[in-house]
Amino acid sequence: MLKKQPYSSMKLSQISQIVRSSGIRKIFNRAQEYENVISFALGEPDFTASEDIVEAGCSAIRNGKTKYTVNAGILELRSAISDMLYSDYQIRYDPTHEIIVTTGAMGALYLALKVLLDPGDSVVVCDPGWTNYYQQILMCGGTPVPLPVHEEQHFQPAVEDLHKVICSSTRAIILNSPCNPTGAILSKETLGEIARLAVEHDCVVLFDEVYKRILYTEEGFESICTYPGMRDRTVVIDSLSKSYAMTGWRLGYAAGPEAIIANMTKFQENIVSAATTPCQYAALEAITGDQAHLKHMVREYARRREYVCDRLAQIPGLKMYPPQGTFYAFVDITQSGMNADDFAYGLLDSKQVVVVPGTAFGSGGDGYIRLSFATSMENIREGLDRIASYMEGIRDAYVQ
Ligand code: PLP
Repeated sequence: MLKKQPYSSMKLSQISQIVRSSGIRKIFNRAQEYENVISFALGEPDFTASEDIVEAGCSAIRNGKTKYTVNAGILELRSAISDMLYSDYQIRYDPTHEIIVTTGAMGALYLALKVLLDPGDSVVVCDPGWTNYYQQILMCGGTPVPLPVHEEQHFQPAVEDLHKVICSSTRAIILNSPCNPTGAILSKETLGEIARLAVEHDCVVLFDEVYKRILYTEEGFESICTYPGMRDRTVVIDSLSKSYAMTGWRLGYAAGPEAIIANMTKFQENIVSAATTPCQYAALEAITGDQAHLKHMVREYARRREYVCDRLAQIPGLKMYPPQGTFYAFVDITQSGMNADDFAYGLLDSKQVVVVPGTAFGSGGDGYIRLSFATSMENIREGLDRIASYMEGIRDAYVQ
């Protein structure tokens, strides 16, 4: 009989030793040690998908729509995505060549990076920014290059900073608007400047717009694909996870230049074949059906956001630039005198409240914690009461 090899002596790839699990999971797992926990940790809607979406998925299963689909996803869904993007941006993406349905936005991001990167290529990512970008770039053999963003500039990347980090090895820039964790929407000015630099340096922009339907401002949201020269160098990445409360259905898509999409489709064929078939039918219903559930969810997030902003403004020692989109509050805790990790783990240990230390989003997130208000009003009230009491307990640290 073969002797089982101890895990530690197994030869594993170098990259598997480098890629890290997310800091969000780390604190979430630690919270399992406690009872009576209030969690502001996870970035997923506390709603479920609407009845008609669920019915479309179930009906697909009942009616045998459970075989493999073409690798890019069913054409009806790609056509519906094309119409939706046309209505959003007045840009027509050809559903047969320029759109791919993927396993969530994460699937789309990974395929796009895999298509774009050779070893030694670099990708610019905002810091703080969504942590999985860093790991995916590493998994695709690239080097993530942080682009610092600061609250003083309302979390807009500054073009001078982009000038400093962009170089001949830069293949792509990943942008996320509205942004996880900061809640910032990239302004017209920022998008215009980045677009100019992307054209000048011949870079592709991966534009992650998964929160684009969860907005709290009149100004609204713009995608970089609408800027001069960007139609042919942007991969628009979106999913149904946040807008339609379909995180576990794993359904996303990418739209962009044919050369990139065709190669993403070839890679998808070799990894998962295609997104799950019944979920593609459910997604078709989500996009083409009644949008009342989405509007209801956004109204509810807006109500919670207002409450969170009001309450945080009354807690001495905390401050926040109000999110313009997403369901995250990115709270400045520097007055506490603690770093983000000590603050977050201290809050968990003493008050059983889970928040994500900003360092989970890059070193630029130190001095911040992220609270997801995709949880009930009752939890939000109780959680903020506990945070207020935590701040009272460490008062000596921040009262001069
Ligand atoms: N992009 C951002 C900015 C996110 O915050 C998330 C999830 O938290 C994703 C992508 C992943 O989306 P999906 O569930 O569609 O893979």
